[in-house]
Amino acid sequence: MTDRLSEQIEKAQMVLVGIGNEFAMRCEAMETDPFYGPLLEQAGGEEYEAQAVQYLRFHYIRRHPDGRLLAAYDRLAGLLDGKNYFLVSLCTDDLIYRSGLDAGRIVTPCGGFRAMQCGRECVTDQEPLVTDPNVTEALLESIDACGGNLDAVDFPVCAECTKPLWFNRIDSPDYREEGYLPDWQRYTKWLQGTLNRQLLVLELGVGMQFPQIIRFPFEKAVFFNQKARMIRVHSRLYQMTEELKEKGISVAQDPVDFLMEQTAGLSAAQEEQTAGLSAVQDPVDFLMEQTAGLSAAQEEQTAADLPPMQDGSGDDRDN
Ligand SMILES: [Zn+2]
Repeated sequence: MTDRLSEQIEKAQMVLVGIGNEFAMRCEAMETDPFYGPLLEQAGGEEYEAQAVQYLRFHYIRRHPDGRLLAAYDRLAGLLDGKNYFLVSLCTDDLIYRSGLDAGRIVTPCGGFRAMQCGRECVTDQEPLVTDPNVTEALLESIDACGGNLDAVDFPVCAECTKPLWFNRIDSPDYREEGYLPDWQRYTKWLQGTLNRQLLVLELGVGMQFPQIIRFPFEKAVFFNQKARMIRVHSRLYQMTEELKEKGISVAQDPVDFLMEQTAGLSAAQEEQTAGLSAVQDPVDFLMEQTAGLSAAQEEQTAADLPPMQDGSGDDRDN
């Protein structure tokens, strides 16, 4: 990089950030964990296995958030402080909402753990989403107190059909897009306002999982804006398309490492605060996807359900 990231952000009037799966919290360690491992085993083969796995994963992420990721989000918040920015994230771990980033400037179209839904279309007058934090808090506490016995966990159920609820996320059946559409509308409006402004587009660890959400539309936003610049950071899929070579920088690096390096000059107080958090965690290997349990067919199907985006017919992609 010719300039530091902070200088690029400083120069921009608006900053669009895309966050992908290299930034997602990994849950593989649950399988060998003395608490979660046996619970996952008990869930195996049960009628409501998929829901139970979501609940356990939710508990794991909430009770053991990856400190290195939280620190990276806080660094990003520091960089964007006072700027006109918007973040689109494919991550479903909700860690971004625990940072200093403005939740009103974030959209997470793949959902997460902030709301629950029924797994099928219930004939009901009730709201499609359960957003009462008491419901999810009760679930957390029930798992805390289960003593290693999954049968002792109170599953939250649909008020209409009494089946266990799912989290409002893209790997659930009948994913209810109501959960993110208001944020999405705010984002598209914001994006329209970037035309002819000095726009910096920053992609952090965004692969090709949902290119119609981040990669292709981001490239278009840069292509059609004379004043736009792009920084694409990814450990493997960092290549820039031919037509954006003049306006873009590719960085072949883990995006979390990149952010930490680029913000190494932060204030000592902030450093101390984040150092304590990152020290308790092993370094994470972001090559594994957080949604590893998701079948390719499901991914394709759910991708098609997402709101209309610019066409993804790029035939000169580098990957
Ligand atoms: Zn129901």
